[in-house]
Amino acid sequence: MTRKILVPWAMPEKGKEVLKKSKSEVRYLHGPKGELPTLEELIQAVCQADVLIPRGTQPVPQEVILSNPNLLGIANYGVGYDNIDIATATQLGILVTNTPGVLTETTADLAWALLMATARKIPQACDFVLSGQWKGPGGKVFMGQDIGPGGSNKPKTLGIIGFGRIGQAVMRRSRGFKMKVVAYDPLMKETIGKTRGVEYRGLAQLLKESDFVTLHCPLTKETHHLIGKRDLDRMKPTAILINTSRGSIVDEKALVSTLQKGRIAGAGLDVYEEEPELSPGLSQLENVVLLPHIGSATQDTREQMAVVAARNAIAMLRGKKPLNIVNPEVFHSTKYLQK
Ligand code: NAD
Repeated sequence: MTRKILVPWAMPEKGKEVLKKSKSEVRYLHGPKGELPTLEELIQAVCQADVLIPRGTQPVPQEVILSNPNLLGIANYGVGYDNIDIATATQLGILVTNTPGVLTETTADLAWALLMATARKIPQACDFVLSGQWKGPGGKVFMGQDIGPGGSNKPKTLGIIGFGRIGQAVMRRSRGFKMKVVAYDPLMKETIGKTRGVEYRGLAQLLKESDFVTLHCPLTKETHHLIGKRDLDRMKPTAILINTSRGSIVDEKALVSTLQKGRIAGAGLDVYEEEPELSPGLSQLENVVLLPHIGSATQDTREQMAVVAARNAIAMLRGKKPLNIVNPEVFHSTKYLQK
């Protein structure tokens, strides 16, 4: 019996080529413009698949997984895997993999670009010019925040929450700006201590000290609303919050209220609690830069992510150990071995 891979989204060609070369049977399921299938369509298709390759933010909830307990694995296209019900997959002996590493530098670039754009109000200033409102000297001035030491030669402090691959790549970008770097990541305390120019801080102290706070931890039960009203209240009134991790790590309603009151200077967001919906009031604010979840969106990186996801899926079909397993206990479990 031929085993089948299901790709329910428009995968980049490089990933498709890898699947084609493997001579696996592959079903692509999406609309003409890449529209994702409905939950019902996904459930029906998963019933006939052996490995699923979902798009990183495509929900794979319990009902999808339960619809096919014989599924070998889910090869997620993305490093974050909060879109998948990992507990149910693990219970049913379904292997889950992700695509770490290949998107680290690209996502760090975006985080840094967002930090700079928010601090210097670049989209707002650009709109001003494009809409013909710029009438020369004497008009509106887009006064921003310094990222480097500025005229008073005072270095700024960057607070990194989540000092993993992307958090560290953002730290490297800050070096050219002579920033002081503090980081919070309970699992990486030792690494932070050994990293030149970075000091460990508890969360409350990091928020209090930082001119820029940037989030790079995964979305888990522990990090859901890690940044709530009380945390935002700890930040300096001149501070800027950058989120390129996952929307639900920040209490978005509390953030809107904090920004409306001008309690912090601004926020640069790539991710939201209920994508693509925005919390009421967020899009009316002047002190925000809002992007449509494009952290890893460069052609080269998206292609490499597709290649990694495709290779992981093929390894699963061939009974080999894929790279990047997020629930390694499944690989040696009886349930998985019997499939
Ligand atoms: P990583 O696993 O290398 O790093 C995550 C770090 O967060 C780890 O060091 C971990 O110890 C730390 N962490 C876990 N719980 C924490 C907590 N409660 N408080 C502080 N730190 C905590 O992952 P990565 O490759 O750096 O990716 C990080 C996240 O970025 C992903 O999980 C994903 O959600 C997000 N991401 C978003 C985009 C985008 O398009 N915007 C692109 C890529 C990744």
